[in-house]
Amino acid sequence: MQEALRNLPSIDRLLQSDLCQQWCQQYGRPAVTDALRAALDDARERIHQRKAVEHNSVVFDLVHFLQCVERRLDFAFAPSLRTVINATGVILHTNLGRAPLSGAAIQAMQSIAKGYSNLEYDLEEGKRGRRDSHAVLKLKAVTDAEDALIVNNNAAALVLLLSALAKGREVIISRGQLVEIGGGFRIPEIMAESGALLREVGSTNRTRLSDYHEAIHERTAMLLRVHPSNFRQSGFVESTPLSELVALAREHGIYIADDLGSGSLLDTTQFGLPYEPTVQESVACGADVVLFSGDKLLGGPQAGILVGRKTVIQAMREHPLARAMRADKLALAALDATLNAYQRGFAAAEIPIWRMIARNSAELQELALRWQRIVGGAVIATRSTIGGGSIPGGTLPSHALALTVPNPNATLQLLRQTNPPVIARIEDDAVVLDPRTVLPEQEEELLKNLQEAGLNSL
Ligand SMILES: *Cc1c(COP(=O)(O)O)cnc(C)c1O
Repeated sequence: MQEALRNLPSIDRLLQSDLCQQWCQQYGRPAVTDALRAALDDARERIHQRKAVEHNSVVFDLVHFLQCVERRLDFAFAPSLRTVINATGVILHTNLGRAPLSGAAIQAMQSIAKGYSNLEYDLEEGKRGRRDSHAVLKLKAVTDAEDALIVNNNAAALVLLLSALAKGREVIISRGQLVEIGGGFRIPEIMAESGALLREVGSTNRTRLSDYHEAIHERTAMLLRVHPSNFRQSGFVESTPLSELVALAREHGIYIADDLGSGSLLDTTQFGLPYEPTVQESVACGADVVLFSGDKLLGGPQAGILVGRKTVIQAMREHPLARAMRADKLALAALDATLNAYQRGFAAAEIPIWRMIARNSAELQELALRWQRIVGGAVIATRSTIGGGSIPGGTLPSHALALTVPNPNATLQLLRQTNPPVIARIEDDAVVLDPRTVLPEQEEELLKNLQEAGLNSL
């Protein structure tokens, strides 16, 4: 054993080799030194372990050793955020980054990222301008609201709304809308953090106008409607229409705000989906503020969007928290480009999530059949999901490739290890790949990865 340990090369000697010199150029000398040291520690550990089992000496294998070092370097410098192929059929997959961006949005981000911009510069006047002016014109145009404000995400928008308009005062909300949206985001906890006092009314399944009415008193600041987002109630259910809440709020001189969550600007029923209230409808109904996410049904970048009455939006714009929650220039660029498609009336054709929603079942069957010819398996009728806390229970008829494998979970794991990783799902004990969410430019990679994972031999 002593001999085997003595035979290990020194870090200094290894660093002189051509390969290590090359790595030093690529990754920097400190990282290569670290990787060599860690790999030598491993080698020493192995020598000790084998000694305990048997008494033969261990030969140092330089080629294998350098492969270990290379793996360490690859791992250390691999990007943390990686592209994956979403074959789950869940369009707004929260864990997979929600909405993919349109070509125009990507181009806008790229050109703004590359250089300087008029982010806070007024090109007319040649002096300091306003960050919060970007994308506002287009938001006003597509929603018909008087004014708009963009923050980092919709959770931030809700905190800002409550802090600016209801701190230390009461906000009335239906018990049926005290939801947890996912990722530990609970409406009651957000309200507590903002300093607004929650006043729950009604019951889980029924809240009437009179429930709101009876709860209003001099400390009431706001009525808040929250979209239940990721669950749907059925049976004996009653909620109060927004128009009635608006009238009640007006009568008492308090605010009425509508957290739509996903915030669709398109009529979802035209795609065979359940009805989803649109931003325009809530604005037209007279809500003081309507808030929604940028990366759910809008199909844009992560952002929280507040639209509504001028004085109310202005109060939030001037609140100190608005500065802490402001959107970055790349999100603003992508949002502006995304809204452009809506304003021109081309959203369904240009925004990736709407294109996915609009793909029909026959077209998806064609794709699944093509995949089947290459990798085998069976084509099944299934349903894709909208997901992402929008249109609860909203699904679309689809066709998918189903692979019957001995161990579906092991196959899912194998697919996650391909490059780029493929994310699939299990349905009726088969591994199911839904073409709806696979971007057209990823299709060949997907097929290559399926073959590499040995799934074509089944
Ligand atoms: C998703 C959602 C939020 C949170 O939006 P983020 O943009 O993810 O921060 C807030 N409210 C409702 C009703 C939602 O559905």
